[in-house]
Amino acid sequence: MEVVDMIEIKKPENGKLEATTEDVVAELRRRAAFVFVSHVKPDGDTLGAGLALGLALRAMGKRVYYFQQDPVPRNLRFLPDSDRVSRSLPADLPKDALWVFCDMSDTSRAGEYLPPLERRNILDIDHHLANSRFGALNYVLETECSTGTCVLHLLRALGAPITPQIATCLLTTIMTDTGGFVHSNTTADVFRVSAELMDLGADKDEITEKIFANKRFAATRLIGAALESARLERDGKYCWSVVDDAMLVKFEADGEDTEEIIQHLRAVEGVDVAALFKAYEGDVRVSLRSNGRVNVQSAAGRLGGGGHFRASGLTFAGSLDDAVAAVRAALVAEGL
Ligand code: AMP
Ligand code: MN
Ligand code: MN
Repeated sequence: MEVVDMIEIKKPENGKLEATTEDVVAELRRRAAFVFVSHVKPDGDTLGAGLALGLALRAMGKRVYYFQQDPVPRNLRFLPDSDRVSRSLPADLPKDALWVFCDMSDTSRAGEYLPPLERRNILDIDHHLANSRFGALNYVLETECSTGTCVLHLLRALGAPITPQIATCLLTTIMTDTGGFVHSNTTADVFRVSAELMDLGADKDEITEKIFANKRFAATRLIGAALESARLERDGKYCWSVVDDAMLVKFEADGEDTEEIIQHLRAVEGVDVAALFKAYEGDVRVSLRSNGRVNVQSAAGRLGGGGHFRASGLTFAGSLDDAVAAVRAALVAEGL
């Protein structure tokens, strides 16, 4: 499918830069068909947020589809309706279907297979810093811990019943984006909302088991190798490592097995910033994590990426060596 960027950043011709909850709810009621879009290398937030809102809209009799470039990761296949997520769309998709992008700062994060879209058919639900406001309606709540909790505000305003399935999807978004209630976005409200979701039937034990345990043996051995070759620089404030194709082949691992590595690098005593360079499948992708002293969203932004103050990422156009040098320079420029 052709990729056309018909979207002029920050200048909605027929929408609002910042949509209110009421604006979004009115639009959700008005439309009959929806396509939920999640970002490449999907996580529990982008998927859980879309699945939750989609389940509620289906219960209201609406047509709901899920579009995602990459397959659903193994550890998220327990999510209700995740088997309906696909890269293809029905031929009879109505022209006025609303495309709901969850958990991304820009349409480019959805990958290369999006059909051309008109802004008037786009709803942007997100909690990232520096979201480009690419929708006719932009529901961007930067202080929310997950896109799923933005969706929860909409479900309440819609008066949609929160079923156990929806509650599980939403608790997944929270547990994914707070690192299991560990990151600094874990406010008292996050605990209150999580307790409420458990009361509504969210299966916390299943989420814990499927997402935070249940790792393949290959992943454990890959983590070992990546940690063994980690480097410490800048007086012990910067810790980084690499996973490349050869390591994936050696341990019969894949990209989904790399997830946990970065948190071990960041957890080293004295480390302000950790970086993991993922040089496989023809790309050099970089994950950055900060303890809060250095803004890694700004650092990633210098190299075309983005994210949050303490967690960000980017895809580097160039060699691994150049990526290592460029990321170090970007971090130093941000005060590392
Ligand atoms: P990750 O390290 O892949 O878990 O990503 C951490 C954060 O950075 C998430 O909030 C992502 O949405 C964001 N992020 C990762 N890669 C990119 C990218 N290429 N462009 C913009 N944001 C990104
Ligand atoms: Mn995400
Ligand atoms: Mn998120």
